[in-house]
Amino acid sequence: MTLGICLPSSFSISPIPKTKSSITSSSIHRCFCRINSYDFVVVNKTNKKKLKPCKNYFLYSNSCDVKIPAAQIGAAELEDSTTKSGFKNLVWPSPDDEIPFWRREFPTWDVNSDDSVNAEKDSDLLHIVHATAEMAPIAKVGGLGDVVTGLARACITRGHKVDVMLPFYECIQRQHINNLVLISTYASYFNGDWIPTNAYRGEVSGISVIFIEPSNHFFKGQSVYGGSYNELEAYLFFSRACLEWMQVTGTRPDFIHVHEWQTGALPLLYWDMYQDLSLKKPRIVLTIHNMEHYGECSQEQLSKCGLDGSVYATEDKAVDDRTIGHNPERLSLLKGGIVYSNAVVTVSPTYLKETLCSGWLASTLLRNRDKYSGILNGIDSAMWNPATDVFLPAKFDAENFQGKNVCKRFVQRGLGLALEGTSSGSDRVPLVVCVTRLVAQKGLHLLTHAIHRVDELGGQMVVLGRAPDGRVEREFENLANLYNQGSSIRILLMYSEELSHMLYAAADMVLVPSMYEPCGLAQMIGMRYGAIPVVRKTGGLADTVFDIDEGSQPELANGFVFEGIDQGSLNWALDRAFSYYREKPNEWATTLQKVMKVDNSWNKTAGQYIDLYNTLRVKW
Ligand code: ADP
Repeated sequence: MTLGICLPSSFSISPIPKTKSSITSSSIHRCFCRINSYDFVVVNKTNKKKLKPCKNYFLYSNSCDVKIPAAQIGAAELEDSTTKSGFKNLVWPSPDDEIPFWRREFPTWDVNSDDSVNAEKDSDLLHIVHATAEMAPIAKVGGLGDVVTGLARACITRGHKVDVMLPFYECIQRQHINNLVLISTYASYFNGDWIPTNAYRGEVSGISVIFIEPSNHFFKGQSVYGGSYNELEAYLFFSRACLEWMQVTGTRPDFIHVHEWQTGALPLLYWDMYQDLSLKKPRIVLTIHNMEHYGECSQEQLSKCGLDGSVYATEDKAVDDRTIGHNPERLSLLKGGIVYSNAVVTVSPTYLKETLCSGWLASTLLRNRDKYSGILNGIDSAMWNPATDVFLPAKFDAENFQGKNVCKRFVQRGLGLALEGTSSGSDRVPLVVCVTRLVAQKGLHLLTHAIHRVDELGGQMVVLGRAPDGRVEREFENLANLYNQGSSIRILLMYSEELSHMLYAAADMVLVPSMYEPCGLAQMIGMRYGAIPVVRKTGGLADTVFDIDEGSQPELANGFVFEGIDQGSLNWALDRAFSYYREKPNEWATTLQKVMKVDNSWNKTAGQYIDLYNTLRVKW
């Protein structure tokens, strides 16, 4: 018998015990909810030790003396005859709501899970400082932000000391920063001046973050990227300001971990200047999340951070090979970062191979092959956990995914999509979700085609994406105008962390039709939330999704994969996924459970970074 507990919509309980036999005194303690920051456990009204499924329950608090009756209901009652909601007190959204459902108030996001407390600690502990342009959830644009936060938290869990250094963007989401304090005021060099700069320390998701705030116009504006300042120069300033802060405060980490072109100049600055000062200990690791952006830079611009730009304008250093012989030649901060870092990592084994075979940086990477490796990204299993996710109207896990149906219905109602007639047979309407930056890399022509195809196949689709390019934005606005009137497709051109969580939870399938994909997090997050991936076989997608019909490794089979970049290839995968969903509901449910259990977490892969750090570490 399945148990459920009726609660007002602002309450969340996770996980709800599934069967009578699974209700033990230990599961009671895991069955908690948080209301106005008070923790509640679910206990039996009459007998705290022997819970019986047919008794009434109370929400009972140890931290305040409130008792709230909660009626216990059985499986049949979960399907309310009119709404089929099963969560009678849920405040169901509607497209006409004044405040859209993803902008409602949510409880505080507490990501410090049991896992981190109980996790095994490493014996040889390191101090790692990340210098990065993004960090989730306070300054996230795409996967870079997720990766920095997830990797940092995984290393902290294993006992290491981690700091993240981040520009103090004007647009930063301050509500997620705890204990923010000014820790130092210093000056950092830029273009002949020493710029007065503040460093603040705060805590984000349990991670110590140092925010660098120059007194000039850098990092002002309403978005992480695209402000009205010279971005390249701002990150050159930031790269030096990180080192300068370590120098003036006597911070001596074992590793400085830089990411992408934005902090690609830091290794040059380190070996050129700071290693001769007091920063002798750190070694530098560069992670390349995407080779699309090279940090193209002139010699004069590089000189603005205090380096002699002409020194780096050679083929074996930082010159952009494509510009050799041109007047003027250009430099690439990413190439400089590759040459001057102690180790270079990219975010999946397949992308590693792809980057060694194609692209102008391949020759540089081949020259530096000994220090170049591929480590698959993970996802933060506490931040992405459907059993505790504060943004979900109903929680669920692989053992009890009743809540997933509620999430689907919730999203359908909130977006004005048609509700399914019955819950079995050919009336089942698959919901396909695509959460993505709308850029060419993501296979925009296939995404556009998928919208048509899903509509044609009688499915539903929601695209959540933001287009940095005006032309792409207009193209998708036109599509939205065309499709959003109906009841099967929604194209939402915005960024919303909250809505993304709800969409993954609501989705039957998550679509990732990328032209290339260094790693890809959407397919991993989708799987954790019970959405079966439909992906193009490239980069990290090829390392994480294995076709259900392929047959050679049935134990790995977890999605639908296509290879071509044409519409027919996409149709082939999507059509198979739709048939499987409609014609084999039991197999679908088994696969759903299976993908939810796939471990794509940082707990699995962070160890490879730790091993790498240990091979490079300088002991003092
Ligand atoms: P990339 O780093 O190339 O953008 P990834 O798949 O590695 O792609 O990571 C994308 C991350 O950004 C995922 O966490 C995804 O959910 C999130 N994301 C992308 N677009 C949006 C959006 N419009 N709203 C909310 N989250 C988004």
